[in-house]
Amino acid sequence: MEEIGIVAVGGYNEMGRNMTAVVVGDEIVILDMGIRLDRVQIHEDAEIDRMHSLELIEMGAIPDDTIMRDINGTVRAIVCTHGHLDHIGAIPKLAHRYNAPIISTPYTTALIRQQIEEEKKFKVNNPLVALKAGDSYEITDSITVEFISIPHSIIDSVIAVLHTPYGSVVYACDFKLDRAPTIGASPNFNALKKLGRKGVLAMITETTNSARSGKTPSETIAKEMLRDVLLGTEESHVGMIVTTFASHIARLNAIIEIAEEMGRVPVFMGRSMEKYLMAAHELGFINLPKNVEIYGQRKDVDKALKKIMTEGKEKYLPVVTGHQGEPGSILVRIANGETPFQVESGDRMIFSANIIPSPMTRANRYALETKLKMRGARIYDDVHVSGHAYREDHWELLRMVQPNHVIPAHGDLAMHSAYIEMAEDAGYVLGETVHLLRNGEVLFIEP
Ligand SMILES: [Zn+2]
Repeated sequence: MEEIGIVAVGGYNEMGRNMTAVVVGDEIVILDMGIRLDRVQIHEDAEIDRMHSLELIEMGAIPDDTIMRDINGTVRAIVCTHGHLDHIGAIPKLAHRYNAPIISTPYTTALIRQQIEEEKKFKVNNPLVALKAGDSYEITDSITVEFISIPHSIIDSVIAVLHTPYGSVVYACDFKLDRAPTIGASPNFNALKKLGRKGVLAMITETTNSARSGKTPSETIAKEMLRDVLLGTEESHVGMIVTTFASHIARLNAIIEIAEEMGRVPVFMGRSMEKYLMAAHELGFINLPKNVEIYGQRKDVDKALKKIMTEGKEKYLPVVTGHQGEPGSILVRIANGETPFQVESGDRMIFSANIIPSPMTRANRYALETKLKMRGARIYDDVHVSGHAYREDHWELLRMVQPNHVIPAHGDLAMHSAYIEMAEDAGYVLGETVHLLRNGEVLFIEP
């Protein structure tokens, strides 16, 4: 049969646990294998390494790949576009069921390797293939994957393109069209336009921010916002603590640069901070200056916080986990008075992050901020720009790539609806050329 099947395994009804399978004849390529963070109340330091996959599937935390039993064909590769947990977090639980290599960029590969090493329940022996952005890899005689560099809120992210005898399938999850990223390459518009000229059968795209009008501000803006908050003050001697995503290397690097301008020593704390930063440093994505301090273990963190108290808060810029109020994170422990760090009246807490809009997160954040305020802290919220394309960026990508069919993924129904309305503006027709898929559904497309 000369058609391509798109199997919506996970991430089509929700944010998180992304997994799509593309069926080409009797061969299958899996795109992403993610975990849904809020379902296990996971944060970047969480441990689920002893849980069984079926248990996690039942919780709705990882994709229900049992539906793959009903799909004819053999899985030839697992391709991951970037290192966020909602794209790679289910690999330790699911990848061993497939006799296929895992293909991802070097930084993503390093994070996948760590994930596999931390797993206690399953043995994952799939070969790991590190493919650089801009390069291609022949999966089988008939399927080649191409990586096109694209900015996102984690370094070394790509749009993956599957070239098949029936046409190309573009997988754009996740991306922003940032022309001034602070680390890494701008979007490879030439490669994207070339795809559009040659013809694309289908594009599967994230929809996270498709309801937000306009275009996503560049990461350069976030860096300037941070600089303004940290340096633009008449109270430059007070205690300041920054909290942000441990995986957001560009943001962490901006903090290092601004700390230098402030004459403070950046001190990164938390196991996830250590993990993501060291991998980025080892692969040469960032250069850590000699004075940077990094502490992963809790006892080292507490020792460092004690040192900051005795030597003077004005000498250091602690960067900690806990921006979503995750229980057990360092900022929550500080707010609870469980560390040697004493919050004093006028100390500043800088949240370089948005609030993830789930009721649980909102409650955690509310509790955290209230406790910090009761100790006298001043709150600087949302010193942040998104890593996800807004509506007009989606419009541009859609018109650049010009796929025959477009499939919203990686989002809930409201996000997909906003995307579909935008696609209709661009001439696509719901049910004919723009397709709404729910988890567990399969779409067949003829070239
Ligand atoms: Zn992402």
